[in-house]
Amino acid sequence: MPDWKRYSTGLHRVSDKCYAYMQPPGNWGLNNTAFFVSGGEALMMDTGCDIRLTDRMLDAIGEAEPAASRVGTVVLTHWHVDHVHGINAPRLRGSRVHASRICANWMANLPPRRWLEAIGSLEGDARRQIEYLLGNKFDFTGLDYIPPTDVFEGGTELEVGGCKVSVIEGKPCHTRSDNIVHIPEEGVVHGGDLVSAGRHVGLQYPFMENLLELVDLMLSWDAQVYIPGHGPLLDARDLRDIRTYLQFMQSEARRRYDAGIPVAAATEDILRNLGPYKGLRGAENLFFTIKMLFCEFAGDTTDHVRRDYPGYLAKQWELRKSVPRKFPELFAQF
Ligand SMILES: [Zn+2]
Repeated sequence: MPDWKRYSTGLHRVSDKCYAYMQPPGNWGLNNTAFFVSGGEALMMDTGCDIRLTDRMLDAIGEAEPAASRVGTVVLTHWHVDHVHGINAPRLRGSRVHASRICANWMANLPPRRWLEAIGSLEGDARRQIEYLLGNKFDFTGLDYIPPTDVFEGGTELEVGGCKVSVIEGKPCHTRSDNIVHIPEEGVVHGGDLVSAGRHVGLQYPFMENLLELVDLMLSWDAQVYIPGHGPLLDARDLRDIRTYLQFMQSEARRRYDAGIPVAAATEDILRNLGPYKGLRGAENLFFTIKMLFCEFAGDTTDHVRRDYPGYLAKQWELRKSVPRKFPELFAQF
């Protein structure tokens, strides 16, 4: 079972030398980071969405482990702003920051100022959706463009306090480059936003096969703890359950694709037949996942849901209204 009991805001020790900092309910911008402290050195996996939230994480780990009052190394799992903006925290200014080439390129092309301008210029439903997502939860002041100091392709191996840390770059699925951090000695994995419990998968690129491959890779490590980018801590059994769910979505979409059903109608039909997955949050977002699956089946590997970001946000806004109206049974418990 996903560890809902320990899913509370703050720092949680997950192994001898690893900690997860979690931020329920895990909505947009409220991600889980992780720390590994060994031999007087500290590694941070991802950062918070703004400096204030990142400082809270650094305060918490500094209090638990004095050696971590200075974090020497940061690894970024992917370029989404909630995972990377925090490298602006003054206390991380001297840290080595590792990111994949694709993640670093995204950060260079969409630095904080440009991102703030872009979201500031949104109109209509796209604006309504971003305002809904952001609420008053974040403070984006003080953000500058800080490029990662160490850029890798395919993955990299780090040494923190004499311990091996492996970073593996996955093929596109959640983003174009999703990186997994594995600390074999601790039996701990930070899987970025690849998987999460209690909610539907959010596939933004047309590659369910890549996601399944990465889940299999994570399972092959037989870790004790899998820290997801959002949501409660997972173990190997939870990961296997998520794998079964992903295959369910893949085969349900495939059947309808083969029958020539258009993507919107196929999504609605799947929403009517979710079986054991009726209780998951975020059913409205399945529209994007099924669309990406249809692209994958068609061999269209260039289309992705972020290609038109304002359009993506406006569609989210519309789905957030229309799907609960059509399928109230999927939202009754929330
Ligand atoms: Zn993400």
